[in-house]
Amino acid sequence: MAVREILEIGHPTLAARAREVEVAAIGTPEVQGWVDDLIDTMRAANGAGIAANQIGIPYRLFTVEVRAGNPRYPYKPSIPLTVLVNPEIAFLSDETFENYEGCLSVPNLRGAVSRHLEVSVSGYDRDGVHRSFEVRGYSAGTFQHENDHLDGILFPHRVADRGTFCSWSSFAAFRQEAFADRVRQLVDRWGA
Ligand code: ZN
Repeated sequence: MAVREILEIGHPTLAARAREVEVAAIGTPEVQGWVDDLIDTMRAANGAGIAANQIGIPYRLFTVEVRAGNPRYPYKPSIPLTVLVNPEIAFLSDETFENYEGCLSVPNLRGAVSRHLEVSVSGYDRDGVHRSFEVRGYSAGTFQHENDHLDGILFPHRVADRGTFCSWSSFAAFRQEAFADRVRQLVDRWGA
């Protein structure tokens, strides 16, 4: 287990489509070590999630976890630790919301990205069991962000209104309060 270096935007491993993991290999020490390193690195960086190619592993897996009081995202509802190998996401409706995103691979930048509010998520857990579940509300954006990484897509590529780009300190000073209000409305409506 180790906290690994997080690659930054512009690194070719972040820009490439990550490869499928052989399902039979999920239980091997190599893949289990990847999972441990993802969890350790995500937690050390206070991330809400992390994809394998962000730590230089060009395979399709990511972890997501939001614990109460996350200092990067104090308004985010909790998400239990989730490990997904070869994940797939499908949209369950056309309804979207504007999510103000940040990324461990894009230092000191935030911007508004349109995300679907209702998605189905499937993939293998770290025990090699295929799981399928639905995510509704604000938390749906976190899964879409991590899944994008595996296709070489970073959040700035999806920012339609470039006027929304801002630093983390500018976000906290000028935009977080209004955004947190919108997140609370989503959480009230969807419970997540
Ligand atoms: Zn990211």
